[in-house]
Amino acid sequence: MSDQLDGNDDTRYTEIQACLEKEWEAKCNRCGACCGITDGDPCENLETLPDHKYSCRIYEDRFGVHKTLGGRTFRCVPLRWIINQQWPGDHLCAYKEKPQNFIINSREKTEDRTGSADEGQ
Ligand code: SF4
Ligand code: SF4
Repeated sequence: MSDQLDGNDDTRYTEIQACLEKEWEAKCNRCGACCGITDGDPCENLETLPDHKYSCRIYEDRFGVHKTLGGRTFRCVPLRWIINQQWPGDHLCAYKEKPQNFIINSREKTEDRTGSADEGQ
């Protein structure tokens, strides 16, 4: 058996990856907790949607250093970097519900916020 992917395998792999990514993103309930909506000083890029939902104005370019409405700087990171940590309102996060169907990265990033208000992250 060949240890290399042929064109069809490569295409199928890409399709599966895209499918899993879409499934992961759809899991977000847009509660805004990971963007600071429950701690009184949310990210300046967070916008309010109808029905108390939230969205990121710069979702495609969200990762990196940003400011809160109060002027505090923080780094927006992928949710998987902080999913095993705690943050204000994290009980609202759909990705913290059991059972988890995804492999979680347990990297420690205590000062990071995620970027998932539009997913998410
Ligand atoms: S990633 Fe979690 S905490 Fe952030 S908006 Fe989505 S459900 Fe809420
Ligand atoms: S996803 Fe990141 S940049 Fe966008 S609102 Fe949330 S914390 Fe801010």
